[in-house]
Amino acid sequence: MTPAQLTKEGVLDALRSIKDTSTDRDIVALDLVKKCAVCDGFVSIAVACVDDKQTREGLREAITHRVTSMGGERSKLSIEFVNPEKPTTTHDRSVPLKQAASSKTTSAGSAQPGSPGIPDVKHIIAVGAGKGGVGKSTISVNLAVGLARQGHTVGLLDGDIYGPSAPTLLGLDNLDTQVRGNMLQVFYVHGIKSMTIGKLVDPEKPLIWRGPMAHGAFKQLVEQTEWGALDYLIIDLPPGTGDVPLTMAQMLSLTGAVVVCTPQKVAQDDAVRAVRMFQQLQVPVLGIVENMSYFIGDDGKEYDIFGRGGAEMMAQRLGLPFLGSVPINMKLREHSDSGEPTKNFTDAGEMMRESLDKLTMNIERQAAIAGMHKSKVTPTLTVS
Ligand code: ADP
Repeated sequence: MTPAQLTKEGVLDALRSIKDTSTDRDIVALDLVKKCAVCDGFVSIAVACVDDKQTREGLREAITHRVTSMGGERSKLSIEFVNPEKPTTTHDRSVPLKQAASSKTTSAGSAQPGSPGIPDVKHIIAVGAGKGGVGKSTISVNLAVGLARQGHTVGLLDGDIYGPSAPTLLGLDNLDTQVRGNMLQVFYVHGIKSMTIGKLVDPEKPLIWRGPMAHGAFKQLVEQTEWGALDYLIIDLPPGTGDVPLTMAQMLSLTGAVVVCTPQKVAQDDAVRAVRMFQQLQVPVLGIVENMSYFIGDDGKEYDIFGRGGAEMMAQRLGLPFLGSVPINMKLREHSDSGEPTKNFTDAGEMMRESLDKLTMNIERQAAIAGMHKSKVTPTLTVS
């Protein structure tokens, strides 16, 4: 099999030959393969495994052998280990909630009985920016679609209660809001589940929320939407450092936050403030995305309009992962305005697809690592 023929299903099949000696069941059947993403010959696998060097090395060797035997390249293979989840009841698997941002006793991993929340969501990732207009919503939508294209079940919560853009970006204008019982039903479009306040209010009315109202509006969107089981919930936050991120951090245990920024110095100053806000709220920062990084002209040349690389340098300075850059692209803008984000992966040029796929994979990787820090160790696996 050539790398071009490497598929997620093929890799999963190969991993089925790796058995846990104590149960004689394979690691896929045991649900220990927490992620398997394949794109352009790049293979990214996350496996739940006890925190034991020898066991992990044995497993790494076994996986590497299976993937390279299929034609995969060692240099394009990423294997991460996450700590196995504690055996849980259905109730315990609900998203862990924080009672309050200041609560030091709440361990990420234990749901608070009676607390509000979103059941059955593996990773919650917030997308923030220091200021508006840098492409935060565009990145949120494309990240959600990118993750769905990798086979994940994804929800997108448009948490920008002051300027919701999901109705346009996802083309929700002609869809009616459905309510069952007292729960809002998600809009299922472009392979993702979504909810936005933009479908609950008059689109032409200014959305002026005082602190407690902003808190209530966001809380209601989170709690009263029927998300179902999700691998990822992406939350598109309002720009800046206001009430909504605070409410979010109090309500939910996030896997982490992504900060979007354009390359200019002024944008970076705002982005640093957003990073500091997440850190103050004890939300791990998964990394920085540089949007509108550069422009490709009709002559095929790349133009660094805003000074490409600025956000990457900022990430380095802050000791944060750089998650990728997205070029300025007219098709992306058109697809955003027409509410057709999937076309960014098929009809906006190879460069755009590559940058969005790379961004998605980097965020998946960082989420797996952050998730590993959150989970607790319970030894279960020995490998044959
Ligand atoms: P924010 O959420 O930060 O306010 P948006 O995502 O709404 O910003 O983007 C602002 C405008 O810029 C939108 O019209 C969007 O289509 C456009 N845009 C964002 N990123 C790009 C890009 N990489 N190339 C072209 N247009 C972009």
